[in-house]
Amino acid sequence: MAATIKTVGVIGAGQMGNGIAHVCALAGYDVKLNDISAERIKAGMATINGNMAKQVSKKTITEDERKAALARIGVAEKYDDLGACDLVIETAIEKEEAKRKIYAELCPSLKPEAILATNTSSISITRLAATTDRPERFIGIHFMNPVPLMELVEVIRGIATDDATFETSKEFVRTLHKTIAVSEDFPAFIVNRILLPMINEAIYTLYEGVGNVEAIDTAMRLGAHHPMGPLELADFIGLDTCLSVMQVLHEGLADSKYRPCPLLVKYVEAGWLGRKTQRGFYDYRGDKPVPTR
Ligand code: NAD
Repeated sequence: MAATIKTVGVIGAGQMGNGIAHVCALAGYDVKLNDISAERIKAGMATINGNMAKQVSKKTITEDERKAALARIGVAEKYDDLGACDLVIETAIEKEEAKRKIYAELCPSLKPEAILATNTSSISITRLAATTDRPERFIGIHFMNPVPLMELVEVIRGIATDDATFETSKEFVRTLHKTIAVSEDFPAFIVNRILLPMINEAIYTLYEGVGNVEAIDTAMRLGAHHPMGPLELADFIGLDTCLSVMQVLHEGLADSKYRPCPLLVKYVEAGWLGRKTQRGFYDYRGDKPVPTR
């Protein structure tokens, strides 16, 4: 465990939040999980339980480790319940306004020396930091999905992030057995700057009728050796998150090559957000995913 971090708060118990809570608890940290929805916390805890059970059956962890890790995860109903945390990782919805509101309400509950990190996929760390009472102790710790399986974490300093926060954050990430890529604070950082325009281009390829969903995913799986096709991956990430990242790239870099595909916008407007809503480029409501186009 990192020397100065014992208790980690996680705000947002969605697909990323439950994964972050999972890996922190397994690494020995006490975890406090918060969400605006009690249902999401319940679902998040059930996911953690199920994913750890899979790890036990694959013998990557023991049953005792699973039990001990689960016992380390508690619920924080209010931000005041995060007062003992040495590090709080915000991983709520990818909307700048929502994140600012969370920080404004959260910061008075935190101890002065606590580090506040965001798992944002794309929003400026410097700009988010400036809305808090602790820009020096604010940092981007960007996990990949699914958190328990993916090896990489991007660490992003804002302009004001101090050296101690940067070093402690890197030490913390190493204790989770993840590899670090340090990224400068530019829109979407490294992985999403490269990955999301590729996904957006796949959606244009569909939109323009160059290929259907199956052809596009098969082409990239077998033709480029990607483990998942780009449309399958978009559904996995969440189409709302994909759209938000493209909007941040488009606005932040002011280059038309980043314009979000109108078909992506349409799916999001329909509420077809991918796996999490059971429909996106594929329909997941049956036994196996069926392309929706
Ligand atoms: P998600 O929709 O699965 O979960 C978001 C959760 O935040 C929901 O449970 C929601 O109830 C909760 N929430 C919303 N407002 C809140 C508030 N005010 N206080 C507390 N909880 C609140 O989304 P996700 O995919 O887990 O993404 C979360 C964050 O992680 C986003 O910033 C996203 O960009 C980032 N991220 C996502 C991925 C990915 O592949 N999905 C990868 C890396 C980073």
